[in-house]
Amino acid sequence: WFSGVQMGPPDAILGITEAFKKDKNEKKINLGAGTYRDDNGNPFVLPSVRKAEEKIMAKKMNKEYAPISGIPEFTDLAIKIALGDDSPNLQKKSNATVQAISGTGSLRIGAAFLSKFWPGGKDIYMPSPTWGNHVPVFVHSGMTPKTYRYYDPKTCGFDFNGCMEDIRKIPAKSVILLHACAHNPTGVDPKPEQWREMCEVIKEKQLYPFFDMAYQGFASGNCEKDAFAVRLFEKEGHQFCLAQSFAKNMGLYGERAGAFSVICQDKEEAERVMSQVKILIRPMYSNPPIHGARIVTEILSDPELKKQWLVDVKQMADRIISIRKTLKDTLVKLGSQRSWDHITDQIGMFCYTGMTPENVARLTKEYSIYLTKDGRISMAGVTTKNVEHLACGMHAVTK
Ligand code: PMP
Repeated sequence: WFSGVQMGPPDAILGITEAFKKDKNEKKINLGAGTYRDDNGNPFVLPSVRKAEEKIMAKKMNKEYAPISGIPEFTDLAIKIALGDDSPNLQKKSNATVQAISGTGSLRIGAAFLSKFWPGGKDIYMPSPTWGNHVPVFVHSGMTPKTYRYYDPKTCGFDFNGCMEDIRKIPAKSVILLHACAHNPTGVDPKPEQWREMCEVIKEKQLYPFFDMAYQGFASGNCEKDAFAVRLFEKEGHQFCLAQSFAKNMGLYGERAGAFSVICQDKEEAERVMSQVKILIRPMYSNPPIHGARIVTEILSDPELKKQWLVDVKQMADRIISIRKTLKDTLVKLGSQRSWDHITDQIGMFCYTGMTPENVARLTKEYSIYLTKDGRISMAGVTTKNVEHLACGMHAVTK
């Protein structure tokens, strides 16, 4: 029956990990996947997560299904950490929030919802470049991805003017996708002043913002600061939707804990939206997994555990910030004539190094350093032990 099915291409990032595993060089480094590693290169389970799991185990909870929209305590706490304790929308209950299968699942539900109900058409404008899965997720639900300028290869920074020019040209009532913080893949975020201007134009043009917040707390080590853009848009009266992930900031990757919210005009609208989001979820996966959401709930509802978690997130963010500096300093020490300021200017999990596909190919072949062709390195995989080898390689291939 399936003789006509053609072999599909392997996933770009998982393909890199496969090649890495086969490499026998003991100095090999995998900087492809965006998962946090400690300074010994090992996966890191947050101490706050371990404690939350112990508490959950002690409760001997049952394994009953969660409601279609997920665990209610989880969804309340998730949206509260995004919008803040004094959010006007939370006070008037004008949010429709559901638990989702991490960030990807949240985006996917949002895409399905907008595809069916957004009155302004199917176009969604995404930054160029954007996370590799954004395009397939939206196409999969019948939306049409378009782009706006975002990254400037000349400066390895934010192309603010290009971005504003493009946003002004977007037809009214289109959807615009915004990375709330720690833009993936570039690590380049707008400054608060630039966010303010973007917020204004987006309102003027009646665009509908869809925030993807996969790295709250991970960018700066401070959850409040990383929520700046989302909270600014809320304060300025925008209605928007929001995809949240706890994969990175709680290290819950495989637990698939996330939330999708539509911030509506009032409680009554939120209730109608909620009913339709549930109707979309039911045939997709019926209801979400419970363990990861229980961990998040334990952490965010217990002041002591929450305090510990904030220390844990900051520890991860600080290690990345500090290893960025070490990488830049080592490149300078090795005599590189290039400017590597963008390594420390960019934030979050990734660094868009500006290396060409040819540079990357040499780095992999000659130094066993694995990364995506666009020159993106996952800073989370760089440690005090492998940074010298990485810097040597980067310097050699960019001379
Ligand atoms: N959005 C962005 C921008 C991301 O970088 C990621 C993770 N790489 C996600 C969403 C979703 O990740 P997950 O489904 O693991 O939460």
